[in-house]
Amino acid sequence: MAKNTTWEEVSNVLNNEDNSFTHKGVKYLKPEVVAQLEAILKPKSKGGVSTNPSKIVDGVTMHYCRFHERYEAECDMVMSQGKSKGYCKASISKWNKINSQIKRLEAQAVGEMTRDDFDKAKVLAEEAKALGLTLNDSATYNYEEDWKLFNGQASEA
Ligand SMILES: [Zn+2]
Repeated sequence: MAKNTTWEEVSNVLNNEDNSFTHKGVKYLKPEVVAQLEAILKPKSKGGVSTNPSKIVDGVTMHYCRFHERYEAECDMVMSQGKSKGYCKASISKWNKINSQIKRLEAQAVGEMTRDDFDKAKVLAEEAKALGLTLNDSATYNYEEDWKLFNGQASEA
């Protein structure tokens, strides 16, 4: 099934200029992008059978959120062509925030490198790497807090 959709998602990620950086003439994918690709490819590589299939509870379609490790109503989930992406709006909002923090640190690291301050660059790069490890770790996410934050932002806007 959905082989083309998967490929489309993957090539969209690969073709997005924001997802790669060039160092000494070599193009690299950013670590968080690799994680993103894994997220796209992983569930489907198990023969398309999800261990947490979507279900209907009291007439509401529920999908599993891998960051909060629980079922959430479809209206709270990020959907693509009628299919759940596997995470909710609140968790991806937090994901994006951490991700931009990583990008900022990486940019700072590159800046230090151009100033030949490799020690500082290394510290910043390590910091970015450590954050990158938390990015897809469900322990980073908290259902109550993330939704509170997400709803708070929505009412401010
Ligand atoms: Zn969630």
